[in-house]
Amino acid sequence: MRDVCIVGGGVAGLAASIFTARAGLDTLVIDGGESILARNASLENYPGFPNGVDARRYLQLTREQARNAGVEFELGRVTRAEPIEATDLEEGFALETEGGDPLEARRLIAASWSSSDYLVPLDVGRTKRGSKRFVNVDTGGRTAVEGVYAAGRLADEPHQTIIAAGHGAKVGLAVVHDSDANFYHDWVVPEGYFTGRGREVPPGCEEIDDEERRKRDEQARESMLEAFAEPLDEEPTMHPSVEQN
Ligand SMILES: Cc1cc2nc3c(=O)[nH]c(=O)nc-3n(C[C@H](O)[C@H](O)[C@H](O)COP(=O)(O)OP(=O)(O)OC[C@H]3O[C@@H](n4cnc5c(N)ncnc54)[C@H](O)[C@@H]3O)c2cc1C
Repeated sequence: MRDVCIVGGGVAGLAASIFTARAGLDTLVIDGGESILARNASLENYPGFPNGVDARRYLQLTREQARNAGVEFELGRVTRAEPIEATDLEEGFALETEGGDPLEARRLIAASWSSSDYLVPLDVGRTKRGSKRFVNVDTGGRTAVEGVYAAGRLADEPHQTIIAAGHGAKVGLAVVHDSDANFYHDWVVPEGYFTGRGREVPPGCEEIDDEERRKRDEQARESMLEAFAEPLDEEPTMHPSVEQN
């Protein structure tokens, strides 16, 4: 039984997972395909990359960040989700996957644009627009079913990467808030920031001294230099209805 299972390891699911895992929740991401962002040719409106970034590189780095935070990954398409005990949602949820072992989790985040039929047995509430269905949520991504959340485009957020990432983070925080995790802000601050004012370092925060700050900066620069040293070999995925020679 995981604390959190996130269906969909695209932009929103990965962002949510970083926040739940960093708050100490045992987090599994299950993904059955690829992010729609893999179709992009050059990601140029994500803050922090002044001349844009290869979208596949961005996804790769975000997955690495999630792994570093302690997130575990499984490959597989989720086909059905239902409560373990229909009368007691606190018992969690069981997920069936195509050809894989069933999974169990206390909380479930659906970040699986554009699939949500596996949620039908849970009756979370969805809205149909054109050929797409969106999961109805409150401002924290909570659905009508306690313990079930939706994030990113699936929750009818606008269709941009930064928004899907921000929404995923927000939904991750709602999960943390609704769980027993002792959480404050997930901040790393210079030594003395809290203790220098006679305050305890709040849960989920960390004070680091200058040596540690320089060490982390060194590691961060090294990993980014390595990641961007060579262009990626992967091509954008073409729309399935475009004929390819
Ligand atoms: C051609 C194209 C270009 C784009 N260019 C830009 C751009 O330049 N700038 C920008 O800001 N945005 C761009 N976007 C939009 C951006 O890609 C999306 O807004 C963003 O990826 C949405 O994030 P998400 O997490 O909601 O969905 P996704 O990133 O698509 O993640 C959903 C994940 O769920 C998985 N999944 C689905 N169903 C299941 C299931 N049943 N079981 C398990 N896993 C499942 C999928 O495999 C996928 O990995 C572009 C989109 C397209 C199509």
